[in-house]
Amino acid sequence: MEVTNVETIPISMSLPEGEGVGDARGFGRTRATTLLRIETDDGTVGWGEAFAPGSIVAATIDELFRDRVVGMDPFDVESLADESYTDPYHFGGSVFVQSCVSAIDVALWDIIGKTVGRPVHRLLGGTECRTLTPYASTMYFTDAERPLERPVEEAVDEGFTAAKIKIGSGVEDDIERVRVAREILGDDARLMVDMNGNYRPRQAVKTAKAIEKYDITWIEEPVPPENESGYREVKSRIDTPIAAGEAHYGRFAFKRLVDDRAVDIVQPNLGRCGGFSEARLIADMATTENVAVRPHIWNSGVGMAAAVQFAASVSSYPHTRNIPEPMMVEFDRSENPLRSEILETPFDPSGGILDVPQGPGLGISVDRDAVERYRTE
Ligand SMILES: [Mg+2]
Repeated sequence: MEVTNVETIPISMSLPEGEGVGDARGFGRTRATTLLRIETDDGTVGWGEAFAPGSIVAATIDELFRDRVVGMDPFDVESLADESYTDPYHFGGSVFVQSCVSAIDVALWDIIGKTVGRPVHRLLGGTECRTLTPYASTMYFTDAERPLERPVEEAVDEGFTAAKIKIGSGVEDDIERVRVAREILGDDARLMVDMNGNYRPRQAVKTAKAIEKYDITWIEEPVPPENESGYREVKSRIDTPIAAGEAHYGRFAFKRLVDDRAVDIVQPNLGRCGGFSEARLIADMATTENVAVRPHIWNSGVGMAAAVQFAASVSSYPHTRNIPEPMMVEFDRSENPLRSEILETPFDPSGGILDVPQGPGLGISVDRDAVERYRTE
């Protein structure tokens, strides 16, 4: 069995004025990502996603990976992650190289799963896992004329039992957002906050202490991802767990986060971190040091499927079967047809439960017509 074709498919969509979404660092109405479709000589098709701009992914695949992947046995997938650091030498630490490795790796694991008839989470060493707990990623900074509490009310109405909201634009605004969200969610729901790296350590600590009484499950990216000393400073001064990883990629960056005890939770994105092979390595490093793993998901339906399969494979160490912390997966509540339309059976978080696809590979069927509707090149 060998790979015969690799196709990059950039997709994007734009929301109308008044319906954009943002965080403390930025605001936009356009979402874009890049799908990867790999085909083998027996007609098996695998899908992956590079969470990076299409033109860069296409050029990087053509320049660095096409010759290596075409003719490759998909079962050699794990050699790719290692080789990305040695050949092309010196480029492996680039976010765009690792995003391309992510897409190729995920597509090859999809092919392997389809070949052996097993879902990827079982191939990665996970035991049977049928459901996960979705959390609503919501209360974005927006240009919509809506009451602040409305998106959280909608999430609760749909059955979510956990939510993550955007903060990071000043302590007073942070407190108000958290107060409103907690009021709507009630005392039992989990509430996370995301500062998107918009603070200096002192500002992050100030907000963290001010919102501690609202029982925050984690504070995400309190300082910029590259500010490693800032993470250590914040962590030493607050009690709330800290999460980061959506902007990190590759085993070496995650090893620093884990070894430095800079965070309590790592959040690899399956379209950026290096794919399943690298994510498994990251999860093993993290759980070995008793750091939790909760994937970041702001991807298309394909990237979401990869993250769900990965999440389903992660060990619950050190918890027993009576798990006090369920594996939670991010469910972006903003309007995004790249997530909701390109799968024949979209993910459904209603009722506060997300089914883990049990079919082979990623367990999804991609709607090619929908993909073509959002294709940009
Ligand atoms: Mg985030």
